[in-house]
Amino acid sequence: MSQQPAEYPTRRPTDESYLDADRFDPPTSLLNLPWVDCHNHAHTLSWEDRERYSLSGCAAMVMVASGYHWTPYKPVAAEDVQFLWDDVINRKRAIERDHLFDANLALGVHTGVRIEDPDTLLDRMAEYSRLDDVVAIGETGITPAQHAESWALDEQRAVVGSQMELAADEDLPVILHTPNVGTDSGPEYRSGIGLPGYESNTSLVQEPVLTGENPALESVKIDVEVAADAGLPEDRIVASHADTNNVEYLLEETDCHVSFTVGYPWLTGIDATDVANTIEEYGPDRVMMDTDCANILKTDVFSVKRSILELYRQGIDEDTIRQVVLENPRDVFGLD
Ligand SMILES: [Zn+2]
Repeated sequence: MSQQPAEYPTRRPTDESYLDADRFDPPTSLLNLPWVDCHNHAHTLSWEDRERYSLSGCAAMVMVASGYHWTPYKPVAAEDVQFLWDDVINRKRAIERDHLFDANLALGVHTGVRIEDPDTLLDRMAEYSRLDDVVAIGETGITPAQHAESWALDEQRAVVGSQMELAADEDLPVILHTPNVGTDSGPEYRSGIGLPGYESNTSLVQEPVLTGENPALESVKIDVEVAADAGLPEDRIVASHADTNNVEYLLEETDCHVSFTVGYPWLTGIDATDVANTIEEYGPDRVMMDTDCANILKTDVFSVKRSILELYRQGIDEDTIRQVVLENPRDVFGLD
């Protein structure tokens, strides 16, 4: 028979008088700071995920329908992309009614997979872009390698350029999809498993159409060139998925805005520290954040909210955080 000790040592050796003398006194107003998610695909998430946006203070978002939130396993026709536009348009009001945030829309044609008849789509896009709910064109942008079917660079330029011309004509900003370099720190998986956390079918990734030393950066430079040809001012571009590979070019050599996608650091390596470093180096005037949450990818709805707290911990003041998560996206996308 085992013998029980007569007494348990329950007095914990903690004592407030031994805490560090420096008192951290964070402003509790950060808890209620409204924020804007300027790039997500919330219409593809669960109801509960959308509720989490509300509960964490997301006052407005830009729900993007263009196809990057999608990894088709086959070539794509114009109707397939138009379905994505119609789907988000038809659900927007019901989503807002349930969750209270303003759900604004961005519609676009992406180049991550070749589209069989892009001109049909681009012709129809003008009418769609004039809908009140549409606040941006995109996401779009040159892609170094496609999924399912390759798309030649000159054809991609034409598709991106037409959308930028339309944006200039309609005075809308463009959400630019910039390719991430990503991290190589992940584990090695068994073959056939793909990349856990991302529904992409890795065997369908095509040979790259950009083969230089830094195709991810080269893509962005071509986008900026295409914008100039299309008559779209650089300050009407929000370069999403900003990272350490492109942020210096974008903020030093262009007038583009940058948006850091903080929703899946396991894939991109990008988190609040990159945002803090960028604000410290270049100031907050052209910096934003987004979650890019979508149902094909392991993404975190709370990532912008967490980053708000983390930016403060890393020394960014409250007014600057407010500018980055609320005022900048409100002004660029013309939100109320
Ligand atoms: Zn996206």
